[in-house]
Amino acid sequence: MTTQTSVSQGQRSSSPSFRFSYLKSNKMPLQKWLLSILKGAGLIWIGLLSAIEPAAAHHTLAGKMPSNFFEGFLSGLAHPVVGLDHLAFIVAVGLLSASQPRGILISVVFLLTALTGTGVHLLNSDLPGAEIVISISVLALGLMLVVGKQASFNVLAGLAGLAGLFHGYAYGETIVGAEMTPLVAYLAGFTVIQYAVAMLAVGAGSLVFRASRSPLSLMRMGGCVISVIGTTFLLRTISH
Ligand SMILES: [Zn+2]
Repeated sequence: MTTQTSVSQGQRSSSPSFRFSYLKSNKMPLQKWLLSILKGAGLIWIGLLSAIEPAAAHHTLAGKMPSNFFEGFLSGLAHPVVGLDHLAFIVAVGLLSASQPRGILISVVFLLTALTGTGVHLLNSDLPGAEIVISISVLALGLMLVVGKQASFNVLAGLAGLAGLFHGYAYGETIVGAEMTPLVAYLAGFTVIQYAVAMLAVGAGSLVFRASRSPLSLMRMGGCVISVIGTTFLLRTISH
């Protein structure tokens, strides 16, 4: 006699916090598959970390000022990804907000304050210690992931918003003095890519919580990598 195991139908929980329809079905091989891709991506990231010299400038055009729309947009797309400190921070924000209702808003707060921070730079105002604050922001969020304690929406949004000012200020470095067209394209470029990275991280975080048997240890691993990046940048900034 065999016991029939059937996929239960009535369990389609419609948690409002997750808009990823592929995640709404029950545990599927696809999720396992995505999870292993995620682990692979994490390892590649660690590999990149050791390969890329952190001191590499966050400029894509070898320090040349973007002079047209295309160059501005490309440079904007590249900066938050080539700059591992920015990338690590955005991934951390996404992972930390993955389990939050309306967590996407936290990333949006970051996007807006990053634009404001660039504006501050373009107005030639000084934001002292931006590099140190950025490194500390990466380390802090990495440690939050390691500790695994859920921070409130307001705390996360506040931290992301404050840090966004400094990340944005650093983005301004690449574009200050450029013409209006490449400048606007640059702002659009880094906003688009930050949004994409944040959404990917939120999706990855949601996937980990839903498909992994040990979501906290995976989050902790991510937090470790992010903390190492934060520490590396912090030490580099202090030693300069
Ligand atoms: Zn940078």
